[in-house]
Amino acid sequence: LPMRLTPNHNLIIYEIEPEQQQALEEILKSNGIIITPEGIEPLVRYSMACPALPTCGLAITESERALPGIIERIRVLLDKLGLQQEHFVIRMTGCPNGCARPYMAELGFVGSAPEKYQVWLGGSPNQTRLARVYENKMPIQELESFLEPIFVYFKTERQAEESFGDFCDRIGFDAIRDHCHSNQPTPMSTNSENGLVNEAVAAEPVKKTVSTQNRRHRIRVRDELHQRIKEAAAKQGKTMTDLAAEALEAYLEKIS
Ligand code: SF4
Repeated sequence: LPMRLTPNHNLIIYEIEPEQQQALEEILKSNGIIITPEGIEPLVRYSMACPALPTCGLAITESERALPGIIERIRVLLDKLGLQQEHFVIRMTGCPNGCARPYMAELGFVGSAPEKYQVWLGGSPNQTRLARVYENKMPIQELESFLEPIFVYFKTERQAEESFGDFCDRIGFDAIRDHCHSNQPTPMSTNSENGLVNEAVAAEPVKKTVSTQNRRHRIRVRDELHQRIKEAAAKQGKTMTDLAAEALEAYLEKIS
């Protein structure tokens, strides 16, 4: 029988004569292949991962071996949040080469450091719109705490029938970050790398040295500025919080 491989990792067998169908289905079933789409968890059905470790020499992180467990964790989280019927396109790769095309996913993971992934959001369900990078190094052990506020926001603010990717694209990353920060009020570590200057200057009176004991507040910055702060902080061996606070203090002193 003729067969075709599709770009979404599907195998199409065609030109099947009606009298061949039953025998073919039995062969597939006896080899553990689910032949009805409804029998497959939709998060799995629309997902894709590259081989990564241990077969690809370029891999920074796990991908193919890790994705089933990650999808399971996402399903548990969605169920917990009352989003049992929800599914979207998840893709994962072990390095930025992006062999499984994570940059078109509604939720994409790209290995960026050991045990850490870039998170891409905003692709469309049928992959006609590119996603954008939302976070550069999400520790995989923080998957649930990272995604939960985003999913809650999606649940409460989505439009009728709006997909997760369309929602992220429409509402914008600034709004998502804003929501996530105001819904995670626990004090954050000064080593926070979670994508924003999400804790910042000391409360009044402004002091020359930044004390993390003081009450902290959050500020929002654009993605581009956030990236510059992150790079400067890494270069100087400082936390983003300390660097941002020092810069703001210096500026405020200058204009006072
Ligand atoms: S995305 Fe990177 S790790 Fe995955 S198969 Fe391609 S080159 Fe290898």
